[in-house]
Amino acid sequence: MPIINRHPTSAPWIPPLWVLAMMALGTIGCAGTAAAATSATIEVNTREAPRGIMSAHLRLPVNAGPLTLVYPKWLPGRHSPAGPLTSLGGPRFTADGRTLPWRRDAADLNAFSVDIPAGVTSLEADLEILTAPAPDGVVQGLESPRTATESLLILEWHQLMLYPAGTRSDDLSYQASVHLPMGWKFATALRTTAATADGAQFAPVSLTTLLDSTLLAGRYFRDIPLGGAPAVTLHIAADTPVALNMKAETQAHYQRLVREAVELFGATHYNKYDFLWALTDQIMPDGLEHHESSDNRSPLRALLDDPIRRAEANLLPHEYAHSWNGKYRRPLGLATPDYQAPMLDEMLWVYEGLTEYLGDVLAVRSGLLTEEEFRDEFARIAAAMDSHSAREWRSLRDSTISAPLLYYQSRAWAARLRRQDDFYQESALLWLEADTLIRRESKGRKSLDDFCKLFYGGESTPPKVVPYDFDAVVSALNAVHAYDWAGFWRERLDRLRPGAPLEGLQAAGWSLALTSHPSSMHLAHEADDKDLDLHYSLGFYVEDEGATIGDIVPRSPADLAGASPGSHLIAINGYKWSKELLHDTLSAPPDSTGKIALLVQKDDMYKTLELKYSGGERYPNLSRRPGTDDLLAKIAHPRAPP
Ligand SMILES: [Zn+2]
Repeated sequence: MPIINRHPTSAPWIPPLWVLAMMALGTIGCAGTAAAATSATIEVNTREAPRGIMSAHLRLPVNAGPLTLVYPKWLPGRHSPAGPLTSLGGPRFTADGRTLPWRRDAADLNAFSVDIPAGVTSLEADLEILTAPAPDGVVQGLESPRTATESLLILEWHQLMLYPAGTRSDDLSYQASVHLPMGWKFATALRTTAATADGAQFAPVSLTTLLDSTLLAGRYFRDIPLGGAPAVTLHIAADTPVALNMKAETQAHYQRLVREAVELFGATHYNKYDFLWALTDQIMPDGLEHHESSDNRSPLRALLDDPIRRAEANLLPHEYAHSWNGKYRRPLGLATPDYQAPMLDEMLWVYEGLTEYLGDVLAVRSGLLTEEEFRDEFARIAAAMDSHSAREWRSLRDSTISAPLLYYQSRAWAARLRRQDDFYQESALLWLEADTLIRRESKGRKSLDDFCKLFYGGESTPPKVVPYDFDAVVSALNAVHAYDWAGFWRERLDRLRPGAPLEGLQAAGWSLALTSHPSSMHLAHEADDKDLDLHYSLGFYVEDEGATIGDIVPRSPADLAGASPGSHLIAINGYKWSKELLHDTLSAPPDSTGKIALLVQKDDMYKTLELKYSGGERYPNLSRRPGTDDLLAKIAHPRAPP
């Protein structure tokens, strides 16, 4: 496979010839003009970030003639054309103090053409990004979701970036600087060359590295060394100082996470690694992988409330595993030369699916989850798969190809359409099946750990990208254990089959069972999601805020009664609704016919839904299959020395 070097191996980054690169690709008109060997600069002002505005001043080396600059569209890690163009103010172009008119390309709205006058060698561009006031302000993947609060901010450089069309992001050099609200601290994978009164200046890096180096800043900030060589550090910013209080036990688990990941992969592909973790209820929970850092966003009380801590336990392990699976090894279709070329998401069953599996495996091996909680997570995702009727018409392969659509669907109707994380979870169950197959057929001598070492380890290196395709995955699996892996994956990627793929769980010695007791992870996710999850009894969930009914499980009592997502629950059997009343009604139906009357408000009307159900409370759990080996316990067992 070709290897694309993203960084120099040791020497400091030497700025490439900006204009030479552009001339070679014909994006600048005046061939023969002397080229300027210098970095572009980007100076970002985040002082107004708390009110939803960040701005940038760019200085781009140019030559006279027509120039097309583009705004990043396809974003690594988001696997989608999610560049927040609808929230972009600008550009305003000036040169030598004069305003320059520009024209947007009618066919490519991310492209801006400007004529550079004779004698001009530097183009100034001003941009601002205006973020949504709501935590999840994503509209059709274009509006920028909120990234700042009164006490913290997340700076994603792509939101304020322009670069010459047709140029590889590896071939462009940018020198960045940032102004922060006074007194705030920050962390980023970028190397600081000078501290300023209200921020910092960073060493010039390629555009690839800059856009891969998100910055976290905050009024209340904490740095926690996690060990490792190269060193790994956890940086936390929170909306309140008390939310930074991580228990010593939790800190020890994150330190163990570093040891377990390095043990699993056998090598690292970063010079240092920075976990950036924002704790706030004002920004949508999320995680975004980078090569030498990750951008993690969790509810404010993720370190204080144990249920929320548990629900968020696989976030950092998942994003960390991406440094190997997704950043170092990357599907060919996602190893794009710039941010305008479409990303092809067909291999996300490896990029995201295996990472989802490894995130849980690393969480349990490092102690962030107990073995029981690890099992509960599998029960939860298997039951969710089982309730999604879209598996009858949409293959796993289609759900990966459709990732740019699925990521931006709301939770309403998720079970009919496949929700955004469906292909993560189905693929995780399939990687468990692959793991159990290798363990069984090799009589316990080999496991998926050997695949991880072979495919993602090797020699430790600085960041670089080694692309792969389907055949490379198959041949690495075959090198671990000879099997028809091509047939194994093709069948699972293309089949249309109702019901979850439970074969891996069964081979690991466990069966999915719906029982009357919610697992601790079910309760943890209810606390994290702020809802009441009745998917497996009445067939919907109720959001705490507004008592809104969300998603309707196909063929469930709620579906058959004609319920709609977005309705508000008012009363149950004539009594004002409450969570407690709903639980009581499920466990002891007042009516022998099994009818439950729900009064709901839909739009401006009240209506009564008659649900026929007498099955009691039902929640996903796993039960042991007698006479089988407990492979989940073996998979969960820590590997690294204490
Ligand atoms: Zn991921």
